Amino acid sequence: MNQREIYERIGISREVYDYCEEILSTLTKRWEQIDRTAEYNQMKVLLAMQKNRVDATHFAATTGYGYNDAGRETLEAVYADCFGTEAALVRPQITCGTHALAVALSANLRPGDELLSPVGKPYDTLEEVIGIRPSMGSLKEFGISYSQVDLLADGSFDWDNIRKAIHEKTKLVTIQRSKGYQTRPTLSVKRIGELISFVKSIKPDVICMVDNCYGEFVEEIEPSEVGADMIVGSLIKNPGGGLAPIGGYICGTKACIDQCAYRLSAPGLGQEVGANLGILPSFYQGFFLAPTVVAGALKGAVFAANVYESLGFRVIPNGTESRHDIIQAVEFGTPEGVIQFCKGIQAAAPVDSYVTPEPWDMPGYDSPVIMAAGAFVQGSSIELSADGPIKPPYAVYFQGGLTWYHAKAGIMMSLQKLWESGVIRALKRK
Ligand SMILES: *Cc1c(COP(=O)(O)O)cnc(C)c1O
Repeated sequence: MNQREIYERIGISREVYDYCEEILSTLTKRWEQIDRTAEYNQMKVLLAMQKNRVDATHFAATTGYGYNDAGRETLEAVYADCFGTEAALVRPQITCGTHALAVALSANLRPGDELLSPVGKPYDTLEEVIGIRPSMGSLKEFGISYSQVDLLADGSFDWDNIRKAIHEKTKLVTIQRSKGYQTRPTLSVKRIGELISFVKSIKPDVICMVDNCYGEFVEEIEPSEVGADMIVGSLIKNPGGGLAPIGGYICGTKACIDQCAYRLSAPGLGQEVGANLGILPSFYQGFFLAPTVVAGALKGAVFAANVYESLGFRVIPNGTESRHDIIQAVEFGTPEGVIQFCKGIQAAAPVDSYVTPEPWDMPGYDSPVIMAAGAFVQGSSIELSADGPIKPPYAVYFQGGLTWYHAKAGIMMSLQKLWESGVIRALKRK
């Protein structure tokens, strides 16, 4: 059986296979670039592990209070060294990205302080953390105010209004690296560095926090290397490498991380408690694999952008843009396009491949949403996954793939479904 035949077995027709191979042949330069970044980041992780003398005793389980947990402390030192920070909090007790961000914010803000987002509206779940949407326990309930400066229409920073928004109450500035599920551009680490320098030139003691979700290891430097006081993310996204079954991290200055630790556990206890329950091998090994897993996901995103752009659909980012996160959006313009795309992603999954995703009304959304995920870790979005709200412009957002080959198969399968269902009538480059 040759390559084309084994793809046929899994349900990819010759026409789809040939079309995709033709697109792929144009991407070798991009692959070289992605591989070089992964190679650099692999050395970064390796160096941090060697420097901290990781050994087999660090994989042992602890229970109870978790005092003197050498595995936990060493892992936190590895993260801190890799991301170039003084300290780190990397814990299974941080349940997700939103929790990590909520800890970082509530730990470092006090009543009367103001939080500023100079990059527009933050990720959906943060609206409730901050209290933009009224919510029990929000920062707003604790007397912490919020202000926001939107990006300009062309995606650039609104320097004048950012300057005006910084005053004596401004304590913390939050910067979201990834566009998330918006259509603004994702920020490069370089641009984040420029923004932080600007903010600090106006008010040197302001804390700059970066929501680093989906951005880790996409570039050779992280926001913590260009002045961020804290970077925050989820372990079921990039840095968990697909192996971490839960968790979040906050890396940053010792002063900020101490505050976070006292908030996460309790005043007086801080970083000294938090048993690892035997989960650390997946954290170490996942972090070790993360640069290559991220490279695979990136190739998938670039491949999808080029396949669908060539067929005449709007894709964000476009096929040739540089990448700063792993999310790819494709606008289909019809509900059927979104549904068929998601069916293809689901059909290509290693887990739950026999399930058919359907749009449904989810809490917190104003239209039905369809989701495709066949993941080993539930909700993991470093694994191949896609979702789309059933409303104009009928865009699907997809990300992840534990291996490049699986991301490729998922995208080919999505095209197969779109073609079989007649949403795409001809496999011809536009
Ligand atoms: C995923 C994500 C979050 C929230 O993470 P959860 O783990 O889903 O709670 C926050 N910000 C951005 C930019 C994200 O992509």
